[in-house]
Amino acid sequence: MNSDSPADLDWTATDRWLSGEAWTGARIGEHARQLCDTIGPRWSGTDAEWRAIEYIRDQFSLAGLDEVAVEEFDMDCWSWSKADVRSSDGARLDILPFIGCGSFTIEANVVDVGYGTPREIAAVSKQLPGEIALMNIAYEPFTQPMPHAYRLRDVAAAGAAAAAVIDGKSGERREYHSAHDSRDPDFPSPPLPSIAITREAGARLRRTSAARLQVEVATTTESKRTANVHGLLRGDRWPEEDLVLGGHHDTVYASPGGNDNGSGTISTLETARVLAALRRDVGTSPGRTLHFVTYSAEEQGFLGSFDFVRRHYSDGRRPRLAINLDELAAGHMKGLVLGFDHLRALVQRQFDHMGDGLQCHVMSQLDNSSDHFPYLVDGIDAAHLWRWRFRGRHADADYHHEPPDTADKLNVRELKEYAAQLSRLLLRLAQVPPQDWPQLGVPAAEARQRVTTERGAVVRVY
Ligand SMILES: [Zn+2]
Repeated sequence: MNSDSPADLDWTATDRWLSGEAWTGARIGEHARQLCDTIGPRWSGTDAEWRAIEYIRDQFSLAGLDEVAVEEFDMDCWSWSKADVRSSDGARLDILPFIGCGSFTIEANVVDVGYGTPREIAAVSKQLPGEIALMNIAYEPFTQPMPHAYRLRDVAAAGAAAAAVIDGKSGERREYHSAHDSRDPDFPSPPLPSIAITREAGARLRRTSAARLQVEVATTTESKRTANVHGLLRGDRWPEEDLVLGGHHDTVYASPGGNDNGSGTISTLETARVLAALRRDVGTSPGRTLHFVTYSAEEQGFLGSFDFVRRHYSDGRRPRLAINLDELAAGHMKGLVLGFDHLRALVQRQFDHMGDGLQCHVMSQLDNSSDHFPYLVDGIDAAHLWRWRFRGRHADADYHHEPPDTADKLNVRELKEYAAQLSRLLLRLAQVPPQDWPQLGVPAAEARQRVTTERGAVVRVY
């Protein structure tokens, strides 16, 4: 066998079967209705999340996976009960507390810090102490981009007592935001009491001279039980070798999570279903073991994926590759983006063999934006899908951390294509003989060192 034909399979017949099953056997609409409409928002630690966990477990079992487990763990679950703001000009403001923010009450002047760049903070350094900083969350368009978490930390260091952060979207839309850097476990999250306000409210405050705000936010954090859902399809040639495909099943508060991340959850379920059906109906098993997982608490600091890596890969064992699926309704699949570069040629060979024009890229930074990060920080090979960067982003694909991220944001036809391409890719990767696989990740110490030096850098979304 040479490396251009990944296994002694009839790939034309196998691809036809996988694509056909992904297309005609799809259960995408049913999953979207269950997860987004019937269950709805799935903030980790809530009863609704548990209904989703049970649903996904049942679907993995129904698909015929070999072992299906609900892997429980305890987490600190944040919630809020009150978020009131009154403006001195009588305007009512719709606000959201930042995720992880503690309770606070304040009445203070509003001080405009623009985008919170060092120059803008310095310009108001005398007025800022003890007051509420009004800051755009977007990047300042003409300077080196700086994550909003670091700009908020600078605002806090300059003495601001709280921050009102203006959402980038227009039309009274605002998202749940957090402000931390997962590359730095000591980074305060958020660095100061912070609320998100709409672009329209922000503009109005900027027009109001001597604006004052009265803010009252009540939040709590308590220990809750949550779980990842894990199923596998055992390999028939190298069963001790793993490939992982997964995406988070939780949502932020109050969002039904169509795009973020019903799309990734459903693509995980569908890819598992299609590959299990191939084994059942055709008799073709993957060479190495395929693990399918939906992670809990991505929106609360990747707690589920951190638990999964700790539980399964902390004893020196490593998967060959973990692929993360997040926000797939943003655009059709264009390829994979790896954290480390040594698998690039191998993955590209599989893509070339598939013949769909998919591309494999490597990020210049270890991406800390989703559930591939806990793998990368341990030096494990992990990838995220290339979905929208540069081209092909759908116009209505900017919904994630807000109530309108509903089931209709899912593109059913495209998700069928995702399931077909992911199952064809996974099966190829599962058949590559161990001697043709370049290396197993990088040393964990090396990865951790990289993560430390990359703190504060903006990771571009793709
Ligand atoms: Zn997500």
